Amino acid sequence: MAKASRALLTRLVHGHGASTHAGVSPVLDRSSTFRLDDAAEQALATREGHDAFDVYGRFGTRTTREAAALVAALEGSESALLFASGMGAIASSLLALAKPGTPVAVAAGVYGGTEGFVAGELPARGHTLIRFDASHPEDLRARVGDGPKPSIVWCESLSNPLLEVADLEGLAALAHSWGALLCVDATFAAGMAQRPLELGADLVVHSATKFINGHSDVIAGAVAGSEALVSRVFSVMSYYGSCIDPAGAWLLARGLRTLPLRYARQSETATRLAASLDAHPKVARVFHPSLASHPSRALAETQLQMPGGVLSFELSSGAEALAFCRALELCAFAVSLGGLETLVAIPRRSSHVGHTPAHWEGVGIREGLVRISVGIEDPDDLWADIEQALVRVGAQFSE
Ligand code: PLP
Repeated sequence: MAKASRALLTRLVHGHGASTHAGVSPVLDRSSTFRLDDAAEQALATREGHDAFDVYGRFGTRTTREAAALVAALEGSESALLFASGMGAIASSLLALAKPGTPVAVAAGVYGGTEGFVAGELPARGHTLIRFDASHPEDLRARVGDGPKPSIVWCESLSNPLLEVADLEGLAALAHSWGALLCVDATFAAGMAQRPLELGADLVVHSATKFINGHSDVIAGAVAGSEALVSRVFSVMSYYGSCIDPAGAWLLARGLRTLPLRYARQSETATRLAASLDAHPKVARVFHPSLASHPSRALAETQLQMPGGVLSFELSSGAEALAFCRALELCAFAVSLGGLETLVAIPRRSSHVGHTPAHWEGVGIREGLVRISVGIEDPDDLWADIEQALVRVGAQFSE
């Protein structure tokens, strides 16, 4: 078992160690049901703490609990829970924690699936939605004004796709002054670039499909927070059945053990590529917290540990963006992020495809915007590929 005083790198390598087996890596146990010892039988019969025993797969098993323990180690939380997808984690958290009849404050420009869920599901359950700019808590204060106070303040940090840093310290202070919870989708920060719980957030949510797993071979979600909050989310998860499969949990545990190495490398390479793109004549604008021009630069200095492995940049039209993605030879033109491989996508045509043009304009997602999730390949090889694609776009659009 990894001691809490040890560094994150050590805790992620050894922190699964609730296992009693002799192997040094986590165990994959695929059983959906288990022989009940006296303690497990008693817990099941009284419905108290049965999720801490191997009883039935939907409540969690040793394999899923060991992987969840690594997420708790990553975020420095009392408890963590894994899901079949990031959307499972997001929907379960909102359903569990939004108090009936209260508004829910959701930052502008969140991931398209989250936006679809809050806009499609929450109003029907009696929640009004308050939109706000997560980099400016005063914007949220002004929008709430003298009206009813939200029970949940929800934001992403770093944001998708413009990498804006949410002012988590400011939002936590404001949310707590109303008795509200601050929930942060930290998929892009991955417990590495920004540490939401240390900045005052109550619950961290992840699409663990991305950096946490890091190998583009599992769909998963996670939440981390206090035992009291996570157990409320657990109830919804077990009723809606959005629990993770043991094989997915085992892959997450495998991936998590190398997260700090992967993320630091991805962040460093993204910083190099951001600087090279910023100096390129075909590129109108680059978004990465390492750049002095980034809108969240001041917050990046106080609330980020590192700038992160995703960046975006603008070409002058949607047609140029598409031609660029098609001209790449090494980087994959594909949705998703956080894997070992560099992935390139066009937000208006992928993660944010469900939004209206007015919404895209409002949150600054232009048609020529391209997002790069930087992998762990050699940085010079990546730049050579990006540069040759930019040259081909230049030739195609000057004809
Ligand atoms: N949150 C963010 C920021 C995302 O980018 C995504 C997916 O791209 C999700 C949540 C949803 O995660 P999943 O696809 O694992 O359900």
